[in-house]
Amino acid sequence: MTIEGIGLHTGVHSIVRLIPAPSNSGIVFYREDRNVFIRADINAVNDTAFATTLGSGGTRVKTVEHLLAALSGLGIDNLVVRVNGPEIPVMDGSSAVFVDMMLKAGIAKQASERPFIRILKPISLKEGNAEIYALPFEGTLITYQIQYKHPLLGAQKKSLKLDEKTFVRELAPARTFGFLKDVELMRANGLAKGGSLENAIILTDTAVLNESGLRFQDEFIRHKMLDLIGDLSLIEFPLLGHIVAVRTGHGTNCKFAKTLLSAPECWEVTLEARPEEAVHAHEREMLKLEAIPSFLTS
Ligand SMILES: [Zn+2]
Repeated sequence: MTIEGIGLHTGVHSIVRLIPAPSNSGIVFYREDRNVFIRADINAVNDTAFATTLGSGGTRVKTVEHLLAALSGLGIDNLVVRVNGPEIPVMDGSSAVFVDMMLKAGIAKQASERPFIRILKPISLKEGNAEIYALPFEGTLITYQIQYKHPLLGAQKKSLKLDEKTFVRELAPARTFGFLKDVELMRANGLAKGGSLENAIILTDTAVLNESGLRFQDEFIRHKMLDLIGDLSLIEFPLLGHIVAVRTGHGTNCKFAKTLLSAPECWEVTLEARPEEAVHAHEREMLKLEAIPSFLTS
């Protein structure tokens, strides 16, 4: 399975290959050109400006969030993502290409039970204008709220009960967006070098610049939900709970993931096959044991 294209921010062309991995491996990025492995783990996040970047030592993989959202949305827990450059290709600016690729390739159901983090008590983070909460809920519910001073965005709120079908249909095709007035500033800061109307919705002060228009009338908030799902997937185990996010970006999303993990009194780890039983802390440590990659080096 390969995908290739340019990165949104670096403009660098790269090829991504997805390689199945054994149970309990988690998602691991492998920079082929540097021979460096980087776990998709919240502690590996080293930049959140306009995209989520993972790093290990001096080696980084930029703009992982749309691919991670696709993996999370499809319930893929174990995978090696080989990439031969510094950034995951942006493709059309959404998760749709990644989802299509994985659905065509087929997803193996692995024998071991799948761990989840179930929210038991409310936990929140406020940072500037942004707020984010996790609340107890049976299943996974995402509520997002945006507030922009722009006629096409304004104040909007959307809730979605998340499962594979709703993710694929309602969120995966939603593209990233940016404001024309910010593009120059971003380029001056070395960002958005690969950005174009092919891979982003560009907004003027009053309208959408893309001739083909929008895929959903509320495509913007849907994309913010997709980014949130990608960022929170760095918690490693999927969440069972109601996530409420207000005006968050990658920085707040990732900070909240850390806040949540550092408050174990607010959640428990449960296994899908027997949701009534919580896993004890020492078992959780065992579940997290490193299982990388003798199979990769062969
Ligand atoms: Zn995004």
